[in-house]
Amino acid sequence: MSDNSLRLVWVYPDLLSTYGDQGNVLVVERRARQRGLDVQRVDVRSDQPIPTSGDIYLIGGGEDRPQRLAAERLLRDGGLERAVSNGAIVFSVCAGYQILGNEFVNDMGERQQGLGLLDVVTVRGEGERCVGDVLADIDPRLNLPPLTGFENHQGVTHLGPTAKPFARTRLGRGNGTGDGTEGAYNDTVFGTYMHGPVMARNPLIADLLLKLALDVNALPAIDDRWYDALRAERIAAATQPA
Ligand code: GLN
Repeated sequence: MSDNSLRLVWVYPDLLSTYGDQGNVLVVERRARQRGLDVQRVDVRSDQPIPTSGDIYLIGGGEDRPQRLAAERLLRDGGLERAVSNGAIVFSVCAGYQILGNEFVNDMGERQQGLGLLDVVTVRGEGERCVGDVLADIDPRLNLPPLTGFENHQGVTHLGPTAKPFARTRLGRGNGTGDGTEGAYNDTVFGTYMHGPVMARNPLIADLLLKLALDVNALPAIDDRWYDALRAERIAAATQPA
C-alpha cells in the first residue's frame, strides 16, 4: 500500500458477479473505512485494462460463457498477473477461482488456459452439480472461524502441489473431488466456491485480506453483531436436520 490509501479492484462486474458476489467488495471496502483507511475502489469492466497497482483484487462467479470470455480477456490483458507479481492480494469465487487456475473446461467442453495464479486444474464434474449450503473449517494456519456459504457449480477442482486447501468441508462438496477440500490458496492468491456473499457471511476473511495488504498482524476490532447473527442463522439452517 502506498500514499495511505488502499486500492481495491473489482474485476469484471459485467461478466463475473453472480449470487451477489459484489457484496464482497462492499464488505472489504466498508471494513477498511471502519479502520480509518482511505479506500479507492475501482470497478474494471471487461473492456477496460486491469490496473496493475491495486492492493486487493476481488473476482466473482459467473455463468459458463461469461467465464470463458473473462478468462480470454484477462489472459490477453496480463494486468492481474503483473499485479500479483507486484505483491497484490487476490480473492476469487467460483468461476473466478477456476479462471485463476492453470486450466478449466469451458462452456464448449474444451480445456481452456487459466491465469496460472493458483496451482489448480478444473474439470467438468460427471456427477450431479454441487449445489447447497456448505460449512467448512478453514486451514488453521489462517486462524479464522468456520466458513459458511453456498455453492452452485459443475466444475471439480484438483489442487496441485503448490496450492493449499483453503478449507475442509463438514457439509457440502467444496472442490467436488470427494477429498473434503474446499477452495485453494497460496501466499497472496485465494479461491473459494463459496457465495453468500462469502465476505458478508465471513467478514474475518475480509480482515485477513486487509491485514495481508497492509502487512499488519492485527486490526482494530469492530462491532460484528449483525454479521454474527447472520452467521449463526445460516450455520443453524445448514446443520439442522431437514
Ligand atoms: N461455470 C462454473 C461451474 O459451474 C462456475 C459457476 C459459478 O461461478 N457459479 O463450475
